[in-house]
Amino acid sequence: MQINKVMVIGAGQMGSGIAQVCAQAGYDVLLNDLKEELVEKGLAGITKNLTRSVTKGRMTDEEKQNVLGRLTATTNIQDAQNVDIVIEAAVENMDIKTKIFTQLDEITPEHTILATNTSSLPITEIAAATKRPEKVIGMHFMNPVPVMKLVEIIRGLATADEVYKAIEDMTKTLNKVPVEVEDFPGFVANRILMPMINEAVYTLYEGVSSKEEIDEVMKLGMNHPMGPLTLADFIGLDTCLYIMETLHEGFGDDKYRPCPLLRKYVKAGWLGKKTGRGFYTYEA
Ligand code: NAD
Repeated sequence: MQINKVMVIGAGQMGSGIAQVCAQAGYDVLLNDLKEELVEKGLAGITKNLTRSVTKGRMTDEEKQNVLGRLTATTNIQDAQNVDIVIEAAVENMDIKTKIFTQLDEITPEHTILATNTSSLPITEIAAATKRPEKVIGMHFMNPVPVMKLVEIIRGLATADEVYKAIEDMTKTLNKVPVEVEDFPGFVANRILMPMINEAVYTLYEGVSSKEEIDEVMKLGMNHPMGPLTLADFIGLDTCLYIMETLHEGFGDDKYRPCPLLRKYVKAGWLGKKTGRGFYTYEA
């Protein structure tokens, strides 16, 4: 399975990072979002990252221009008719993802692999929205994508071995390390990480300690590079809530119930770094 052309759906923090690493690895990349300004914002973020790499001597200006030259912005999902793989990184919501996959199934050629960067939603259910479940697979990158080495690769019930192999090979060309994971809620990464973050929010909610102190305990006491509340702000509190809801529903176990304070912040639109305010406040 030859992969040359890639479309990334969703130009948010994950989609723009995935588009960047694919273009850096030599793939031609179409970056798609709902509105032009959203794709432009994603491309501006990529340009900023590449400029920083040039300043730090990790990349020449010519290489930067070549990477940017391989990236094309689009708001038209019909452009997926010419790609070998689509990597979907829209919001963590099953209705939105299944709508996108049904559309992609109609638009893309038969050979096209449909991958999702979902953090927790069942790959098998997303695949069932298409007539090609054998070509649907989870490709779960970590945030920030250009920095983090891991990609969890998740097989749906029907995912073909040759599709798994093609994605494993592609992941290595991106200079990332693939880890094979079965299709269970939260996979491995978020089944372990998210309950810890949710417990940190409960610890704040119950007044056990302040946000700074909770983060300090986990940084100094457990040697975590950042505290769980700061990490939640970086991930996005809406994404954290979606993942906790998926774990809660998927396992039917109340130990995964989302903290009411997390719900309150999301209802307030305090989604973390991306909106300028979450547990902490951030400058634009
Ligand atoms: P984000 O909110 O930064 O970006 C999502 C983007 O998708 C937005 O720009 C939105 O406009 C766009 N979008 C929504 N519906 C769309 C549609 N129908 N077509 C095209 N674009 C659409 O979110 P994010 O943090 O980048 O997360 C994206 C996905 O990656 C989610 O599934 C999330 O669970 C997963 N993920 C997130 C992280 C993380 O740390 N944030 C890590 C791994 C995986």
